[in-house]
Amino acid sequence: MLGVFFCGSVCQLKKKLSTAPGEAETGRAFNRYDERLLEDFAVYCGLALQTVQTVQRIEYQRASQDVTQEVLSYHLTAAQEEIRALQEAEIPSAQSLRILDFSFSDFGLSEDSTAQATVRMFLDLNLVQDFNIAYKCLCQWVLSVRRGYRSNVPYHNWSHGLSTAQCMFAMVMSTDQLQSNLSRLEVLALMIATLNHDLDHRGVSNSYIERTQQPLAQLYGTSSLEHHHYDMCLFILNNPGSQILSGLCPDDYRTVLPMIEKAILATDLAVYMERRAEFFELGQRGMRWEEDRHRDLLRSMLMTASDIAAITKPWHIQKRTAKLVTSEFFAQGDREKEEFNIKPADMMNRDNSTRLPHMQVNYIDGMCHPLYQTLSGMFDSCSPLLEGLMRNREKWMLLAETGEEGEEEE
Ligand SMILES: [Zn+2]
Repeated sequence: MLGVFFCGSVCQLKKKLSTAPGEAETGRAFNRYDERLLEDFAVYCGLALQTVQTVQRIEYQRASQDVTQEVLSYHLTAAQEEIRALQEAEIPSAQSLRILDFSFSDFGLSEDSTAQATVRMFLDLNLVQDFNIAYKCLCQWVLSVRRGYRSNVPYHNWSHGLSTAQCMFAMVMSTDQLQSNLSRLEVLALMIATLNHDLDHRGVSNSYIERTQQPLAQLYGTSSLEHHHYDMCLFILNNPGSQILSGLCPDDYRTVLPMIEKAILATDLAVYMERRAEFFELGQRGMRWEEDRHRDLLRSMLMTASDIAAITKPWHIQKRTAKLVTSEFFAQGDREKEEFNIKPADMMNRDNSTRLPHMQVNYIDGMCHPLYQTLSGMFDSCSPLLEGLMRNREKWMLLAETGEEGEEEE
């Protein structure tokens, strides 16, 4: 009897009846040649079985992924009545929604009004007309993006996505140089990117995701969250009924997607810090619109300026937003203390809450001021952002020094 074990199975040959012609009688049923033949056969069988098992595993994973995507697609799609209500609603003007103002806040706006404000931005920028976006499709897409934000996250939720898009809208609408020099595709990419840039944010930072070895960190390595926001954005853009880019010609489609991706990735503040020196230099030397690199850099900086614009808002909005941001940061800090027994970074450490005004002043000076100063130097129309920032700096400074806020200015 001769046997070989392969790939979890046993192959066995029993009782050879006679020796082959010319083969010497050895007294053994199987000779060395038989053994080699069986071993080689077993290797091939093993490989074949392994391949079948791998294919089965991949097919199973693909089916499982399809089911997950189907569930996600279902949850991201608003009910038909909700889509119809937005589609049939009379969309208020930009003036009445105050979305042309840098001081805009969605605090106090109803859920319906936030969706209508988004539709209004796409209408007033002529994106619906220029890119043949079916109106119902736009409505469904807006409602899907809103659903794509987690409502239990204090700061990085739909309200922040909308506010970021509104700041980009206000900058583009009020700045002639942007209107005349940015291509239609760039405007479309920036609006989609701002509205989608924090989709499915979990209220924790990239460093927390990396430290806790979440699957997102395994997938992307760096800028994990931002890559995920883009993937979610793409998922919604491909979701049946929400395909607002389906009217674009193939060339435009191929151009706009990487633009959206880069713009979303630019909202990682680590990326902003890496690239900003080059932009500040551009602010000194002047922008050359024919240079792709300059345009790309400008788009990235416009993304950051929109993303962190809460710091430029009127004091009562800034104060309320700072509270939301800190409650999200402190919750992460609490988890870090509990899970890793480490002292969180200052801004995430609840024990530092009384130092918030100091930290805000440092944040303004280190992170925000150089950006808004450069932008308002390049585009006069953006100076309200810098002025708002400096007013808030004074308030935070006063709070840091005296513990008093002073009078509220309207
Ligand atoms: Zn953001």
